[in-house]
Amino acid sequence: MQISEELIRNLVTQVIKEVRSSGQLNGGGSQFSGRFGIFDDADQAVAAAREAFEELRKRPISDRKKAIDHIRRISIDQSVELGTMEMNETKIGRLEHKIAKLQTLGQRVPGTEFLTTQAYSGDRGLAVIEHAPFGVIGAITPVTHSLPTITGNAINMIAAGNTLVVNPHPSGRLVAAEGVKRFNQAIAADIGIENLICVIRNPTLETAAAIFKNRDVALICVTGGPAVARAALNSGKRAVVAGPGNPPVLVDETADLDNAARCIIEGATFDNNLLCIAEKEVFVVESVFDAMMSAMERAGAVRLNSSQVAKLTEAAFVEVGEGSHKHWSPSKDLLGQDANKLAKAAGVMIDPKTLLLFGETVAEHPFVYVEQMMPFVPFVRCRNVDHGIELAKHYEHGYRHTSMIHSRDVRNMTKMARAMDTTLFVKNGPCMASLGLGGEGYTSFSIAGPTGEGVTTPMTFTRERRCSLIDDLWILGNPNV
Ligand code: NAD
Repeated sequence: MQISEELIRNLVTQVIKEVRSSGQLNGGGSQFSGRFGIFDDADQAVAAAREAFEELRKRPISDRKKAIDHIRRISIDQSVELGTMEMNETKIGRLEHKIAKLQTLGQRVPGTEFLTTQAYSGDRGLAVIEHAPFGVIGAITPVTHSLPTITGNAINMIAAGNTLVVNPHPSGRLVAAEGVKRFNQAIAADIGIENLICVIRNPTLETAAAIFKNRDVALICVTGGPAVARAALNSGKRAVVAGPGNPPVLVDETADLDNAARCIIEGATFDNNLLCIAEKEVFVVESVFDAMMSAMERAGAVRLNSSQVAKLTEAAFVEVGEGSHKHWSPSKDLLGQDANKLAKAAGVMIDPKTLLLFGETVAEHPFVYVEQMMPFVPFVRCRNVDHGIELAKHYEHGYRHTSMIHSRDVRNMTKMARAMDTTLFVKNGPCMASLGLGGEGYTSFSIAGPTGEGVTTPMTFTRERRCSLIDDLWILGNPNV
């Protein structure tokens, strides 16, 4: 049976009326009821999120968990519909990965179980350190993962007891609003709070600035490139900054080349290389360079010759900025597009099922130094492992985001890890293994390098509070006291 959207809306409205009449809904007399998180005005969105926070703080932690469980359920059960919406709206990436991202986030982003308490006890009593919410958090999200970033942020932030206001990328605003509306409707019908997640329907730089400036926004969390990272750090507010990357891969003479090739293809082709952690450029020690190129071909990638790489480069980059700020940027026509489209631009016919193109370039090549987000990976020869580490460090641009090595030599792994100093360092796996996909650990799509929080969790969005009891409750103390 097909259930129409209108029927669902009527049912939700009915449930909310019933919950409201039972006195459980915060929107009893609220001017924000019926909005389900969708706002045009940034200050109104913050006010609604503040009201929702005041209600949430009265509730048990089990209500946070109920809210999160709805977000998880919707991102998993409705991943095909919402992933398709994201693909159709943003027109970058690969549909199967849009769907996989929502499912993975629903399953693997940590929730309330990550909240911890510390205690110190001794002669002078007991001190308990708990982790409290900030209040309303302002979040900025990228076009590369519009709803996925909101999903991960919302689970983390609500687990910690916060509410959030999101200014999404304008090119992913429709799916952001649709996802947020669905999350809020389900949450409201269950626990009676309507605006735990608020989103700006028509986001602009002005609405972002208004969120940054609002006195009721206690913390900012931005996920995006250099401009938004700078804006957040200059905002005058505490900021969690998940900034850009340009992850290098080093392949040394001891590596399992076939495994390295499979991993590079898996990581660099996920969502057509939109991930900030994805393999963007590969440095290979000269003695195994030719063997590595053959391994890439065996694993299914298509090699371009130098004139094809040159033709692709012409189509793949545009010059932006003025004066001394002039620099190359990936062209919108090819960013996040399929390998087949890149091959056409390079003047090559390939099997349309091909996922990745690759080719040899010099180190000083735009495909190496620009965060290009396309399924073409440049391969650069290096003299030895030390030269490879030097180049990898240089072209990572000091973002300290993500780097990878394929090697069986622990000394080389250690040397590179120390030199790179990146938040994520992967050995012998694809980039996503560092987020728990094919490796250990948990997932979030906001990896805060510049401000140091790393892969964000609910604890990232908490403030410490200490509660001290003097001279009592040290139950191991002198029984005569
Ligand atoms: P982008 O920087 O163009 O936009 C990101 C967000 O910031 C958008 O919502 C945009 O509207 C907003 N924005 C841009 N300038 C702003 C300003 N001055 N003030 C306020 N808001 C501003 O990036 P994108 O193309 O959407 O996403 C790709 C970038 O994001 C890449 O650089 C990628 O590495 C990075 N990224 C990082 C992470 C991470 O966890 N570190 C995750 C995903 C993406």
